[in-house]
Amino acid sequence: MTAIENLKIHFYGVQGSGSIYPSLKERRACQSINEYELLKQVFTDLQGRAGPDGRLNATIEELIGGPLTRTTLEAYRHRLDIPTTRIYGGWTTCIRIETADGYDIVLDCGSGFRVCAKDIVQKWNRLEADQTSDRDHRHLHIFGSHSHYDHTEGFDQAAVCFDPRNHIHVYANRQYLQALDQILGIFSHQIDFRLKGVQTPLSYELMPAQFHSCEIRDFQTDPPTRERDELANRYQDLNQGIPIGETTLYPFEVFHPSPCLGYRIERGGKVFVFCTDHELRRGAESDHPLQIASLEAEERLCQQSMDADILYRDGQFLQIEYDGDLGIGSPHGVSRLDWGHSCIEDVLDMAARCNVKHTYIGHHDPNRDWSERNWLDETLQRKSEQTGLRFELARAETVIDL
Ligand SMILES: [Zn+2]
Ligand SMILES: [Zn+2]
Repeated sequence: MTAIENLKIHFYGVQGSGSIYPSLKERRACQSINEYELLKQVFTDLQGRAGPDGRLNATIEELIGGPLTRTTLEAYRHRLDIPTTRIYGGWTTCIRIETADGYDIVLDCGSGFRVCAKDIVQKWNRLEADQTSDRDHRHLHIFGSHSHYDHTEGFDQAAVCFDPRNHIHVYANRQYLQALDQILGIFSHQIDFRLKGVQTPLSYELMPAQFHSCEIRDFQTDPPTRERDELANRYQDLNQGIPIGETTLYPFEVFHPSPCLGYRIERGGKVFVFCTDHELRRGAESDHPLQIASLEAEERLCQQSMDADILYRDGQFLQIEYDGDLGIGSPHGVSRLDWGHSCIEDVLDMAARCNVKHTYIGHHDPNRDWSERNWLDETLQRKSEQTGLRFELARAETVIDL
């Protein structure tokens, strides 16, 4: 395992709304690209070794470097330069940040959190077995964006919740804390009897980890009147940075049907901005209150993203889809105004204006098929070459050293 220089960012889930698994058709399309690339490379290699008359004057063994065994074939394959096929899909929103000073920070608990938590538990167990440090590593710091199901659904499946030695600190707005608590009762130790067992068989009584909640709220407009309440163990001002070791997270409000937070994350002079589920609204009336609120939120996001190294941002639709002129996975378009998500074209403009070095566009529509994503990524690659900034679709299992 290599040491972490500053921040190590792992994308565990970048799907919007629902998890997806590639269909048989998509897997076949992917396989067909791989097969084509492999054959192309093999025959290009053979062509290069032909004589002036275009004929090969060698045995198969000479050409591939030995008898037709798995070892020889794998060694031959290894020498070819075959690009990796881009695989799309996976779990809903969950991003993990490991810091060089030993903290684990998680952004959102979509279905990706199950896999993420498994890795975190394994790391903690390893650290304990190594006995290289006296520090108690079993503290996980989760920052929630908003209460929607695709950002909370992985919580009760996460291994990290089932060991009494583990401390889970959740920082989020009230709605996010509420979404977890009303189903599981992990903070208040109370569940409305009408909800108990309805969505999941689990509850705080079956989840022995120690849960701590910190409500992020705007002290200027909504100052806390008490030190704590049944839901929030403590409060954090929206307008202040939240330090986790040497890393600081600056929350800010974005625009979405449920109150939603983005985070600017800073450490060692590097900046990562996380903004899932945000809509730059494209309404017809400029004085519509939602239009004004959306533009104000976009302005906040721009300020936070100025000169950022990495931006992860919601770009669920193309403008033609947002306007309802084209459907996603269906020929019938429907207007996406007030669905809470942005257009890819607007993300590109914003990232260029804010001089963001590398933008990952995420919260993918679950109905967008694989070939379309491939096409989109190729378009983004060309855009990157034109602008000198980097744009790509976020893909699960991406790991970034920042
Ligand atoms: Zn979402
Ligand atoms: Zn949402």
